[in-house]
Amino acid sequence: MAQKIQAVRGMNDVLPGESSRWEYLESVLRGLLADYGYQNIRTPIVEETGLFVRSIGEVTDIVEKEMYTFVDTLNGDSLTLRPEGTAGTLRAVVEHNLLYNATQRLWYMGPMFRHERPQKGRYRQFHQMGVEALGFAGPDIDAELVMLGADLWRRLGIADCAELQINTLGDKAERAAHREALIAYLEQHADKLDEDGRRRLYSNPLRVLDTKNPALQEICEAAPRLIDYLGEASRAHYEGWKRMLEAVGIPYVENHRLVRGLDYYNHSVFEWVTTELGAQGTICAGGRYDGLTEQLGGKPASGIGFGMGLERILLLLEARGLLPLAKAPDVYLVQQGDGADIAALKLARQLREAGLSVVQHCGGGSFKSQMKRADASGAAFAVILGETEVASGTASLKPLRGGAEQHTVACEGVADAIARLKA
Ligand code: ATP
Ligand code: MG
Repeated sequence: MAQKIQAVRGMNDVLPGESSRWEYLESVLRGLLADYGYQNIRTPIVEETGLFVRSIGEVTDIVEKEMYTFVDTLNGDSLTLRPEGTAGTLRAVVEHNLLYNATQRLWYMGPMFRHERPQKGRYRQFHQMGVEALGFAGPDIDAELVMLGADLWRRLGIADCAELQINTLGDKAERAAHREALIAYLEQHADKLDEDGRRRLYSNPLRVLDTKNPALQEICEAAPRLIDYLGEASRAHYEGWKRMLEAVGIPYVENHRLVRGLDYYNHSVFEWVTTELGAQGTICAGGRYDGLTEQLGGKPASGIGFGMGLERILLLLEARGLLPLAKAPDVYLVQQGDGADIAALKLARQLREAGLSVVQHCGGGSFKSQMKRADASGAAFAVILGETEVASGTASLKPLRGGAEQHTVACEGVADAIARLKA
């Protein structure tokens, strides 16, 4: 026998028994995004490598070590599997001039790829839903994005385990002033920094504060805070955002070490964090990136967005027992004898057109084994077509759950009879 081929490490199959969970989460998300008036955008999974280097930034985990990059052997182009969704979305917005006399509220959902060490809540192919709101200076839109997240947790029943952390990164000049003070401070502690920290001390010192290394917590905690370098306008933006969150009753925790280590990020940043998933606790991360369209060759425009990891949300829902069971069909159609196969095809279509979901038995087999399948399918009803039924244009209707009796119905009346029994 030929050797079996396995899925790539860190890239998971979603098997039939699990896919209904994904469909449930996706449908809650779609409903919520429609309620907020966001529009779906679908961009390619592969982009030019330069797009991610330019938009995510060279001194980041993603660009330094996590990207799946390959050469297109046809023309030598360097291409990359998208590690996140903002870059491609903004590339498309600029390329198609979507901000010409317009604002945009966009969402995307799909697989992302990062070459990380696989563990619970961390995979090499994972899925994100993200939104990008473009052309709004805020802070009202900043509050809207947070509210969208809060409403999602509420609809999913996990509002109590998602904590909102917020911070502000100010504007470019304010960050530059803070950066100087931060570098001076970190230099004093250079001997205690880890390798990442020393490497980023000059290239991306803000990102040093973002470390997960427990040994560095104290040093980072005492570092100069960006908030102390804010001017009046930035402070007003931040205070306005917080006031709105308070007005709509969304509790938040200020975390002055919450950063995005890229130059174009500014003002509002936020994360939704849970303590229930260990180290992989961030389920949604977002921020304002007013400089990004310009960096990608477009006109300057305000922008803010977030990305959420769907696997982590599913893990949370699972731990809480909040995932619905797979939906069983309404009807399992059992058929045996002369002419029953064709009668079954016709009746199945008729029932589906009446709004019922129908699994038609295919492949023959004894009446008994077909009834076993009907039971295992979870269907509410078995509809049975034997030779007698086919000859008389009828079907037998057998409720599989509850005590109602099997009885014979004219084929045209099956859907109505089911509707009456369901009521
Ligand atoms: P982390 O600090 O956990 O590595 P990150 O800062 O790299 O996260 P973002 O780039 O902000 O994450 O992505 C947004 C969200 O996508 C994360 O909060 C998380 O829920 C999810 N996510 C990121 N990387 C992975 C992964 N490898 N597997 C599963 N989910 C992920
Ligand atoms: Mg990461």
